[in-house]
Amino acid sequence: MSLDEFRQAVDRISVEEPELRNSLIFYADMLTTLYQLSDEVTPVLEEKRDLYAQLAKTVVERGTPLLELVGELGVPEDTWLRILERVASKVREHRPELSSDLDSLMNAARKGSFSPSDLAKYSLKGDLNYARGVAAGLNVDLDLVNAIALWTIQPILIALRRMVEEEIDSKNWLRGYCPVCGSYTRTAYMTGEGRKQYLKCEICGMEWPFPRLKCPFCGNEDDKKLGFYPVDEGRFRLYVCEECGEYWKVVDEETAGKVIPRELYPVWTFKLDEIASQLKDQEGGEQEGSGEDGSQDGSGK
Ligand SMILES: [Zn+2]
Ligand SMILES: [Zn+2]
Repeated sequence: MSLDEFRQAVDRISVEEPELRNSLIFYADMLTTLYQLSDEVTPVLEEKRDLYAQLAKTVVERGTPLLELVGELGVPEDTWLRILERVASKVREHRPELSSDLDSLMNAARKGSFSPSDLAKYSLKGDLNYARGVAAGLNVDLDLVNAIALWTIQPILIALRRMVEEEIDSKNWLRGYCPVCGSYTRTAYMTGEGRKQYLKCEICGMEWPFPRLKCPFCGNEDDKKLGFYPVDEGRFRLYVCEECGEYWKVVDEETAGKVIPRELYPVWTFKLDEIASQLKDQEGGEQEGSGEDGSQDGSGK
């Protein structure tokens, strides 16, 4: 997992998708920083390695993600702040237009106006009220605050995952959310004979097998309510669940090869997010437009 490896992959993808280049460089560079931070934070978690390993062994049996079993990670607040600083400066490098927002955010964090660890933990749970309060108080974009919150907790969760992933009986987990950090993911890949499918956590990097033709978000297995769209000669597959409205993105490594590090799959498959969003718009349009002139129908093809 070196920057060089990421850069080569970015070059490779950019040949085919030049418009993705800047996003990819940003993503790869951020990911490198997050893995460096993860190495730095590992000694802090090391003290409780035995406890984490014991709990990890019980994750599948208890049906509860490790992070929930662990409760407090025992990472000091100044470490959270240090990670936040590094993440913010990485964002600034790539998005100088956000400098004043980042200044406001970092000044407030340094003054203790909000807690970086609380911000990160709530955002991880998908509870955006804390982030919303920070964003509104500083007049900073909520998406930016939320993205930074998730990047801040990521190195700690990557460190935790790397410490205990071997202890988790992940082949029997069979849930759509991550056995380490509890996050849902849209990223998956298929590999090997029979194209076995694995989900990959976009936060901590954990991978676990998950049945195909089942929605990771709501568990729907009715194939009449699952939309399937092969993209780029079958290199990618987009699945959409008509039951809950969620979608997920699968890289078929048997067709696409293993040329791109899996950490980059969330951005490599960016066009599938666009397709999913177009499908949603069409659906919305059809519902709104039903009984009218119907001009939306077929406009997508
Ligand atoms: Zn995870
Ligand atoms: Zn679903």
